[in-house]
Amino acid sequence: MKKGKLIVFSAPSGAGKTTLVRHALDSISNLKFSISCTTRDKREGEVHGKDYYFTSPEDFKAKIANDEFVEHEEVYHDNFYGTLKSEVDKITAEGISVIFDIDVIGALNIKKLYGDECLTVFVNPPSLEILKERLISRNTESEDKLKQRIDKAGIEMEKAKEFDVILLNDDLETAKAKTIEIITDFIK
Ligand code: 5GP
Repeated sequence: MKKGKLIVFSAPSGAGKTTLVRHALDSISNLKFSISCTTRDKREGEVHGKDYYFTSPEDFKAKIANDEFVEHEEVYHDNFYGTLKSEVDKITAEGISVIFDIDVIGALNIKKLYGDECLTVFVNPPSLEILKERLISRNTESEDKLKQRIDKAGIEMEKAKEFDVILLNDDLETAKAKTIEIITDFIK
């Protein structure tokens, strides 16, 4: 059986990447989400084993020592995130492609490992100003965490040119349609 491919969506926090990834999962049957492992607190409405595998810093460190991650990062201060090898292998072995919602560094690391089997997509917000407004109105972070996310966004946007595709998210419906087009074209 032909193995599934890897599609990595990355963007500054608040650029709309998660909405686009969810839309792709709802629209394309031969596609599954790579559930990452994280040490950050669970947000309201999030489900263990669906959004993330929520875990303790101790368990996360043990997984690093056991070489269980394809990549892992301290994305924000004291908040660790990682892609599990088992997650990627399980899905691609079934001939199903896997979509990732991970940070810029993690995305570029996965591309290095998987080459042509992997497509990296950078979701660009219309501007840093609009990104700030979206993050503030989302109201999911403390002031300190919000500042960390905004500071990091500028650095991440400079990395966009290293991605295979840059997808501008100024109009959500257009960006959704483009998402489907890009993925179906890559996995066909
Ligand atoms: P959030 O806390 O908003 O769910 O995610 C924060 C950031 O961590 C987002 O940019 C998200 O894409 C990224 N992220 C989630 N899972 C992983 C992962 O497994 N590896 C890496 N490198 N980043 C991740």
